[in-house]
Amino acid sequence: MKPFTYLRADDAAGAIAAGGGDGARFLAGGTTLIDLMRLEVMTPSALVDVTRLPLAAIEEHGDAVRIGAMARNTDVAYHPLIARRYPLLAEAILAGASAQVRNMATVGGNLLQRTRCPYFRDLGSPCNKRTPGAGCSALDGYTRSHAILGGSEHCIATHPSDLCVALVALDAVVHTRHGDRERAIPIGELHTLPGDHPEIEHVLEPGELITGVELPASRFAARSRYLKVRDREAFAFALASAAVGLDLDGDTIRAARVALGGVATRPWRAAGAEDALVGQPATSATYARAAAAALDGAVPRRDNAFKVELARRTIVRALELAAGGS
Ligand SMILES: Cc1cc2nc3c(=O)[nH]c(=O)nc-3n(C[C@H](O)[C@H](O)[C@H](O)COP(=O)(O)OP(=O)(O)OC[C@H]3O[C@@H](n4cnc5c(N)ncnc54)[C@H](O)[C@@H]3O)c2cc1C
Repeated sequence: MKPFTYLRADDAAGAIAAGGGDGARFLAGGTTLIDLMRLEVMTPSALVDVTRLPLAAIEEHGDAVRIGAMARNTDVAYHPLIARRYPLLAEAILAGASAQVRNMATVGGNLLQRTRCPYFRDLGSPCNKRTPGAGCSALDGYTRSHAILGGSEHCIATHPSDLCVALVALDAVVHTRHGDRERAIPIGELHTLPGDHPEIEHVLEPGELITGVELPASRFAARSRYLKVRDREAFAFALASAAVGLDLDGDTIRAARVALGGVATRPWRAAGAEDALVGQPATSATYARAAAAALDGAVPRRDNAFKVELARRTIVRALELAAGGS
């Protein structure tokens, strides 16, 4: 690991001032950052420890729920407000990592965790995300875990987060602070597509601190599911996952949410699938049409073509489970 300076922030203003310094990074649970520093994929010159900031509360704000950025993933998943009002989010968190990692990982860190693309994590492989302009080893490499949606000719790395997929389905809003400026960023606008600049992964500026995530009131609590398909039950990232919510009027779908993980370069809202569901009967035939719409425009490669069918089936099954109710 390269040498770095460690600073402990006691308040948000101090954290932001230090975090904006050249080469500085915020340190939360460290489960992504320290890992990548050991591999020398990330080499910050300073770590600003933000774990002592008073930003771990989970509480109601009017008809919304606000989760502080320092809330640990475990505390979010088991919080009564989340379990009751946003079971989809609890299910997504508990589908990720292991109990030990979830006990350390924070909501802010989960939002900015980095891809598990093996070429990104291997200093011996050219990677445009790690070194802009170096080339992408995945494009002609082994692509089983890579994206079929949202890729570019420079990067097809998948976004790894389960939590973010649920947040996208729930229309969450990410709150940040930078100097005196506060921003409220819809989660769908936080992560960027790789395009010509895979090294840019989100719209935050250096030193911009995530302070929390707001969940608007949801009409999908009773009928929502997160379904994750992976190689094994723990310590495995999604090959395909679906976060879905249904609001039914009798047997007719009044409103729907569909978001995908494991198949795209960012947490993926499948608006086409939602359009195909609304106003239709809640049947497997409807779900199959929606799933086909969700995968419209998919670009499979040699080793990940199976993901098209896998993602379709994951969506259909998640919708069937959601329609069954809680
Ligand atoms: C073995 C293993 C298995 C895993 N499996 C899964 C899985 O199946 N599904 C899944 O979703 N995840 C999985 N993860 C990833 C894990 O969820 C993330 O590592 C974790 O959520 C990151 O949170 P953290 O608090 O540890 O972040 P850190 O590692 O501390 O930080 C991550 C990044 O976020 C930045 N950051 C942190 N907090 C803030 C803030 N408040 N404002 C601005 N920037 C901030 C840091 O500077 C850093 O760049 C796994 C991790 C491991 C190690």
